[in-house]
Amino acid sequence: MKHMMSQVEPKRRLAVLTSGGDAPGMNAAIRAVVRTALDRGVKVYAIYEGYRGMVEGGSRIRPLTWDAVGGILQRGGTIIGTARCEVFRTRAGRLQAAANLLAHRIDSLVVIGGDGSLAGAVSFHDEWPELVAELAAHGQLPQGSANPPPLSIAGIAGSIDNDIIGTDMTIGADTALHRITEAIDAISSTAASHQRTFIVEVMGRHCGYLALMGALASGADWVLIPSDPPQGADWEERMCTVLRTGRAAGRRDSIVVVAEGACDRQGNRITCERLKKILEERLQEEVRVTILGHIQRGGPPSAFDRNLSTILGYAAVDALLQTPPGTEPFLIGMRGNRITRLPLRECVAQSQAVTQAILNREFERAMTLRGPNYQAAFRTLRTLVRALPHEPEPGQQRLRLAVLHSGAPAPGMNTAVRAAVRIGIDKGHIMLGVRNGFQGLIAGDVEELNWMSVNGWAPLGGAELGTNRKVPNGKDFYAIARTLDAHQVQGILMIGGWSGYEAMYQLFLARDHFPTFNIPLVCVPATIDNDLPGSELSIGADTALNSIVEAVDKIKQSAVASRRCFVVEVMGHYCGYLAQMSGLATGAERVYLPEEGITLNDLQADVTALRTAFQHGKRLSVMIRSENAHPRYTTSFLTTLFAEEGAGIFDVRQAILGHLQQGGNPTPFDRILATRLAATSIDFLITEASRASSAAVFLGLQGGQVHFHHLDDLPRLADWSHHRPKQQWWLDLRPIAKVMAQPAPRSCFHSFAGEQPIPENRIDE
Ligand code: ADP
Repeated sequence: MKHMMSQVEPKRRLAVLTSGGDAPGMNAAIRAVVRTALDRGVKVYAIYEGYRGMVEGGSRIRPLTWDAVGGILQRGGTIIGTARCEVFRTRAGRLQAAANLLAHRIDSLVVIGGDGSLAGAVSFHDEWPELVAELAAHGQLPQGSANPPPLSIAGIAGSIDNDIIGTDMTIGADTALHRITEAIDAISSTAASHQRTFIVEVMGRHCGYLALMGALASGADWVLIPSDPPQGADWEERMCTVLRTGRAAGRRDSIVVVAEGACDRQGNRITCERLKKILEERLQEEVRVTILGHIQRGGPPSAFDRNLSTILGYAAVDALLQTPPGTEPFLIGMRGNRITRLPLRECVAQSQAVTQAILNREFERAMTLRGPNYQAAFRTLRTLVRALPHEPEPGQQRLRLAVLHSGAPAPGMNTAVRAAVRIGIDKGHIMLGVRNGFQGLIAGDVEELNWMSVNGWAPLGGAELGTNRKVPNGKDFYAIARTLDAHQVQGILMIGGWSGYEAMYQLFLARDHFPTFNIPLVCVPATIDNDLPGSELSIGADTALNSIVEAVDKIKQSAVASRRCFVVEVMGHYCGYLAQMSGLATGAERVYLPEEGITLNDLQADVTALRTAFQHGKRLSVMIRSENAHPRYTTSFLTTLFAEEGAGIFDVRQAILGHLQQGGNPTPFDRILATRLAATSIDFLITEASRASSAAVFLGLQGGQVHFHHLDDLPRLADWSHHRPKQQWWLDLRPIAKVMAQPAPRSCFHSFAGEQPIPENRIDE
């Protein structure tokens, strides 16, 4: 027994802090860190006000309870505060910070912050043995902390700028893009009414991510970013020419997006005042400036930021507990929807190298360091912001490429068509729009689209070309062949959902009988259901997810005074993606998925869990049911069952969210995805059609990169009877959701003897 005891490793003690600029989503990360630690039976502290709290100690370092982090998922900012702290940059400050950690026997830190905060974490880790030795030499080691273990640190990138290398996205960047696109969409409508030019300044001293993606997502007309200053001495005139030509072509609004750190090639700041003066003098029109400022940091975090933060917080604790004490600090990040663990030191060094390259005016190096996706986005933007397309090259082969939709409308469809049409025309080709999906192809409802036909489509929800679920059959093929012949179509781009994939597959199979079908065919995934093979995400799913999350936030707020359980039904067809991800983002207690079904045993367990929770003081519970989770255990059945079994303890309401999930303007993520997939597809069609090939593919994002699959691979990758992919990456997130949503583990109530946990925030969720 004694021997066994000596084998047991001492329990780790964790602390979490947020530092530097605040970022929406930090609260979700704190919640995930706290709940994962408590779930593993590990004590967890909050260090209030970042490194300042670590240096000051005392009441700034306090344990957090399970319930203290309830009800914070939807709140922007950080409940444990953040600060900049000059003292922590000094050795004396760090010595004090070490003493304070040792006083609480904290041996593992989760640091959530920007590159400064993470750089501070690495130095602190390196210095730790010396700091401990110095405290020991001066007899200042707190009681009970002789021979302390080495310090372990997990870093999480929290910064709205998305300026940390080692993760695709930093916490807060997606939400900041939401604020930026909302603002630019609003500004565009007033600018269009008065035919005005607006300059919009967005954050980003060294990183142009927000400006670049904000401009791409909102269809802005010119953008200035720090890492790629305008080329040539005549850039001012070129900018004015683009805006002037755009006006002449019929654009009513002109929007110039500028990052706050934008400079010219000589290193002179391009301020809003400078731009305003240039534009007013040369365009002879009124120019208005809007500096978005701190609006970009505020507001509720987007669904993506809540889920990213939750996953990273969970993974950070998991990694800290799995690695030996004192392990080299690591960054927990996300690349291509996969959690990554990379050396923090290198990530910080590379991120700081980008800033340094910009300061040294080594712009190409800065762009290279930012990675290929960023560069590709920049190239696409350059084409899309053009006022008018390049003229076709003399003698150039001008292809005739058709674009159409199929399936239910998905926000982002218009964005994709706009990008496809403009990129196609800019490369000298003729773009044809097919109205009303395959019905239009059968009826010959096809027209040529020009540059201005798609003007203003970037932010527009719905599907301007029209869409429906028609899947052509044998009888329709002659009519389709006639249309393709009549318009001499040399390639088809279908942007849509399952019915579109099925339709394109039918055309592909009918090729032997219909030679006109022997042209390149491309399917781009666009459906809110996210149920298409070959892509981890489809266009529209992020918008629907955000609509659901906003609706559930409101539903939860409506119930503050009662003891109530909501059964919320969400769309998804036979794919539980929207249910799973909205459950994670709203802190739902239970999610019912078509992939799992529902059994009587499940329902019995759920009733018991609900009764127990409400009897112990719970006030609000959310159960999310995917529309086809079970054919007979419907949403109203669940509602009746819970109401009957919970009578006298809690009441139950159902909310079927319905079509609000298909509507709305696309989120920045969907707009960027739509643009990226459309750009790749058009490049593909142009290459293949010029070679008179008949490649037939569907494409999508996998591991963060665009991948192509042959259409004849569709049956292998799809679960045809359920209309969903055979492999669904997001199912792996279920354990995280379960940890977050479970009732507080019993062990949490006993672990804080002698110390004052912070007051409970809210008892729900
Ligand atoms: P961000 O983390 O958002 O980049 P800052 O660069 O302001 O924000 O850093 C936040 C805090 O991190 C600083 O106020 C300081 O306390 C700490 N910090 C930053 N750089 C270092 C460093 N090199 N050494 C020690 N602490 C640092």
